[in-house]
Amino acid sequence: MAKAIATISRTKEIMEAHGLHTKKKFGQNFLTEPSIVTRIAQSVPMADKRLLIEIGPGIGALTEQLALVADKVIAYEIDDDLIPVLADTLAEYPHVEIRHQDFLTVNLKEELAPFMNDGYEISIAANLPYYITTPLLFHILESDVPITSITVMMQKEVADRFAAQVGTKDYNALSVITQYRADVKMVMKVPKEVFVPKPNVDSAVIQFRLRPYSKQVVKQEEFFELVKGCFVQRRKTILNNLSVYLKDKDKAKEYLEKANIDPARRAETCTLDTFIELYEVMSC
Ligand code: SAM
Repeated sequence: MAKAIATISRTKEIMEAHGLHTKKKFGQNFLTEPSIVTRIAQSVPMADKRLLIEIGPGIGALTEQLALVADKVIAYEIDDDLIPVLADTLAEYPHVEIRHQDFLTVNLKEELAPFMNDGYEISIAANLPYYITTPLLFHILESDVPITSITVMMQKEVADRFAAQVGTKDYNALSVITQYRADVKMVMKVPKEVFVPKPNVDSAVIQFRLRPYSKQVVKQEEFFELVKGCFVQRRKTILNNLSVYLKDKDKAKEYLEKANIDPARRAETCTLDTFIELYEVMSC
């Protein structure tokens, strides 16, 4: 293997050779620290037959390390200009497949079906484009594909929200929905200096280990919408937010009462189980 792509010298060399400039509109901040990409790849849980999905391979810094630990890698890249670059930088890894596509438009269930049928265990790893971190994660969580883990770099501030516990300032709809689907672990904090170009904020890598639903909720999307609805105006009471969500204050009161939730509470004080209870009452 040549010198790792995730070094300043190789990154500059590749960018110059291909006349590349990073694009802000695609959230391009390339990683230039080999120990970090290695650690991300190595923190993905082991499996006998492993398919790793990457979102936004860039010039291949992380992809290269994923290729070393996986049986198959599929990386989705939106930027036309990066496709020939990746064909070049990853040429020595035939088990890496680059798909030129906006990840938000990928039908994961359909595209990954052949691998699921073939006994692959699927995990996701990425240095996410920060402008769409949350939509990308929801796209995965709502995909109904049996994914083992998601190990991703994001802004540290956003990572803190995903991992937040009830009653803390960072706790929000994301925390509830995430904790419904996964155990969340902080893998490492990453200083802004290791990216080209340097972003304004520090980053963190967090890992979601997806688990079978703790309690069955019949329609996951509906449950997620309800949770989001309860947090729409953070400073307002759950009654207030639920009334707006349902467009019916009397119904909101009735449901809260049945679920034994004080209408004066705020959503940030409600645990995952409380939301599940509310959802179940509403579904009866
Ligand atoms: N993985 C590379 C690294 O760590 O150096 C690049 C990470 S950079 C933060 C984000 C990458 O995601 C860029 O390559 C960008 O073009 C790509 N990207 C942005 N939006 C995307 C989308 N909707 N679907 C797929 N890739 C996207």
